[in-house]
Amino acid sequence: MSENKIWLSPPHMGDSELKYIQEAFDTNWIAPVGANIDAFEQDLEAYLGSRHVVLLNSGTAALHLGLVLLGVQAGDEVICQSMTFAASANPILYQGAIPVFVDSEAESWNLCPIALEEAIVDRIAKGKKPKAIIAVHLYGVPYKIEAIRTVAGKYEIPILEDSAEALGSSYKGQKCGAFGDIAIFSFNGSKIITTSGGGALITSSKLLKDRALFLATQAKDDAPYYQHSELGYNYRMSNICAGIGRGQMEVLDSRIDLRRSMHEFYVELFAAIDGVDVFIVPNDDYFANYWLSTILIDSKITNGISGETLRLAFKEANIESRPLWKPMHLQPVFSSYPYYGSTVAESLFKKGLCLPSGSNLTNDDRMRIKTVVLELFKQ
Ligand SMILES: *Cc1c(COP(=O)(O)O)cnc(C)c1O
Repeated sequence: MSENKIWLSPPHMGDSELKYIQEAFDTNWIAPVGANIDAFEQDLEAYLGSRHVVLLNSGTAALHLGLVLLGVQAGDEVICQSMTFAASANPILYQGAIPVFVDSEAESWNLCPIALEEAIVDRIAKGKKPKAIIAVHLYGVPYKIEAIRTVAGKYEIPILEDSAEALGSSYKGQKCGAFGDIAIFSFNGSKIITTSGGGALITSSKLLKDRALFLATQAKDDAPYYQHSELGYNYRMSNICAGIGRGQMEVLDSRIDLRRSMHEFYVELFAAIDGVDVFIVPNDDYFANYWLSTILIDSKITNGISGETLRLAFKEANIESRPLWKPMHLQPVFSSYPYYGSTVAESLFKKGLCLPSGSNLTNDDRMRIKTVVLELFKQ
């Protein structure tokens, strides 16, 4: 294992990040206030169009604040896509609320509209209408926007759109992050662009933005002394991190192109290998940033080669790959909560693998990946 490690999704800096950090130092705005925060928010607002952005210190904080803004309280029920990262669901428990997990459909791997409606109808019959629906764009592939919106609208339940993995993805030309009543992004180290750690909350109204800002900065009343009438949070992004974000926004389009070209590389690599399917968007209405390229392996067709076999072969060559997200209803911490649907998410988890997808992988890296794959699958 002398060769460098190929990571699943490493950070990829541009040319301007250090300049903006230097500006923060030069002006001494080493704080969760400053010009980089204002500018990065404006950049994101311009990118999304007619949306209001509040930068926060993580995507998880954004999801938590989103639930607070939607009025979710202790004892309330919140529907959440089961197939996702734990950060989508944890904030439900932070609020003392009850997660109700729902299966995926096989086309976008996201919230199944049929199982969603079953869940809503059954929860209402049991006496409680869910307070919110958390829908996720997994691996940068948009969920079934129209079908989910129709179900949510029918029962008048707001959508909290977890767009942590989908900055730059779109559906029918509209950007992810602009679909939910509230949406969030993550800028954690592994995401398509990163601020080292950070997130954003997206709303459609200035009023909600101001409310989010107030709650994210300790809910200080308008008084010369420290007075608090409400519970506040310390969730704002630092001006240093926002400087990284400003620089990353300048290269976002090129990062999306590079991730998509990694995905194209895998489509070609696996085209001739029976039993391995690269995950692609359902149709042309969907545009994915392909934050991570993922595959499903049917080991009945591959003579027993599974995702785990491939993962270990990659590991041997110092290449990182990972299983898909393990569904939340199968997690020990969430096992006591209700679940609706069948085994779509579970079967994706069993068959899937996330492949190295970084925008900064070199041609040499691609050759190493290709060698492992061709070696393993040669009959
Ligand atoms: C990364 C991620 C989050 C959490 O974002 P952090 O910034 O790491 O807190 C939430 N949901 C999904 C689907 C994610 O992938």
